[in-house]
Amino acid sequence: MLGQMMQQPLLISLLLRHAQRHHADTEVVSRRVEGDMHRCSYAELATRAQRLANALQLLGVQPGDRVSTLAWNGYRHLELYYAVSGAGAVLHTLNPRLHAEQVAWIINHAQDRVLCFDLDLLPLVQAVAPQLTSVQHFVLMSDEAHMPVATSLPGLLCYETLLQAAEPRFDWPVFDENTAAALCYTSGTTGHPKGVLYSHRSTVLHALAGALPDSNHCAATDVILPVVPMFHVNAWGLPYIACLVGAKLVLPGPRLDGESLYTLMEAEGVTLASGVPTLWQGLLKHVRAQGLRFSSLRRTGIGGSACPPAMIRAFQDGYGVEVMHGWGMTETSPMVTTGRFKARHAALDADARVALQARQGRVIFGADMKVVDEQGRELPWDGRSAGELMVRGPWVVQRYLGAEEDALVDGWFPTGDVATIDADGYMNITDRSKDVIKSGGEWISSIDIENIAAGHPAVEMAACIARPDAKWGERPLLVVVPKAGVPVDGETLLRHFEGRVARWCVPDDVVFVEAIPVGPTGKMLKRRLREALLGPGSA
Ligand code: AMP
Repeated sequence: MLGQMMQQPLLISLLLRHAQRHHADTEVVSRRVEGDMHRCSYAELATRAQRLANALQLLGVQPGDRVSTLAWNGYRHLELYYAVSGAGAVLHTLNPRLHAEQVAWIINHAQDRVLCFDLDLLPLVQAVAPQLTSVQHFVLMSDEAHMPVATSLPGLLCYETLLQAAEPRFDWPVFDENTAAALCYTSGTTGHPKGVLYSHRSTVLHALAGALPDSNHCAATDVILPVVPMFHVNAWGLPYIACLVGAKLVLPGPRLDGESLYTLMEAEGVTLASGVPTLWQGLLKHVRAQGLRFSSLRRTGIGGSACPPAMIRAFQDGYGVEVMHGWGMTETSPMVTTGRFKARHAALDADARVALQARQGRVIFGADMKVVDEQGRELPWDGRSAGELMVRGPWVVQRYLGAEEDALVDGWFPTGDVATIDADGYMNITDRSKDVIKSGGEWISSIDIENIAAGHPAVEMAACIARPDAKWGERPLLVVVPKAGVPVDGETLLRHFEGRVARWCVPDDVVFVEAIPVGPTGKMLKRRLREALLGPGSA
């Protein structure tokens, strides 16, 4: 027997409509790339999103078409979030920190039809444009006053002019909630980046779960500052969560140094700010150096890399700001676990509470997890048995864009993270089986670095490993076996990377060794290398 409740698909347009009808005058405040501040209400944002949906339709964007963005956190990016997905097209957020070659590869793979970008990213777009095979329109996300006098981009369009010319009313279509809504590529694993295609249903369910008290604990009284970029896993869902709960949203633009963030937080009364540990290092350093206090900040969401216990203490003991440490991936929308307490933890002493928060935490309803050994057998929840972390849930990827097969093993997604789970269901990441380095919240492929190094005539063999770093979490270290009789120094090798990868991906240092340990299949044993060079426990 079927239930007899209304059939209302879970669509992203519902979130915007809710904010428009029930939180019409709540503000969205942005620090613009142009340098000034911009304020609007959800009612105004919704009208502009409707104009944008009409404008995109006039450009020929059809349901299912990909519209990409190269943009920082700002209101125009937010309008694109809602207009593109709301109209049934797919919002493809691109990472401007990637090398131009990689950006071009991703755009071509996704077959993006329209590319919208922030003013300061014009040089990057001009550099990638000649390699693009599918883009029909380039849209500069600014007004006429900021349009370039000359550009190599064919028929460059102005975002504000498009909006002005479009009708302010657009009826958001109703369609299957499983329709694709947004696309984000992850370069977190080796080989080419892989596209994760979120659906309306997965996005709305993730937003509902992400607003819960043991997730982000969001309410209409909150002022939310996503420092995590809107190009990285939809800023952890916060742009959707803000509309869902009717919270004020503060969007910081490209300037994320400690002073800029602190000033913005104080000026706008931010209560919740979320981002990767590296950014909070900068903020804490600034606040400490200037002897400042937070007058409104109550909570920080920290994830993307492990949050050091010292940072948890600094926020909580030093400034009365509660830390919510979470774990997730591009493939999981991203939120799966948070290190939040259970009732009985109230009895723990201060150190034990911080130790618990430093773990990646327990699952949010909807998702599930397990750890397995090399044969795929589930390991006990004893806090000691470490194995690959597997996750599942309605906002976890099933298949990468364009892949022939599902990415699952027995219905679970293998994360490439190695973890333990304790008897209370708290997960703790202990290692990573994927061959990557995470620096300041963004990935560096060690394979890419090794391939470039191997292309140098003086290199016999090269391995790139992660060296722990106080500021960036990890930094790449290049380990090289030089070719006999071909003298080379570290500086020369590092210069070889110029123009071949983004500057921040170039290794910090080169270590020369006589041999790199390899396993029976010829695979480099990086774990052993890390331990030999960086000391026990570094792996
Ligand atoms: P991304 O897809 O770029 O968001 O990266 C996801 C990966 O970042 C995970 O698979 C982990 O390796 C790492 N990661 C994310 N959150 C945490 C965390 N809280 N602690 C440790 N590693 C994390």
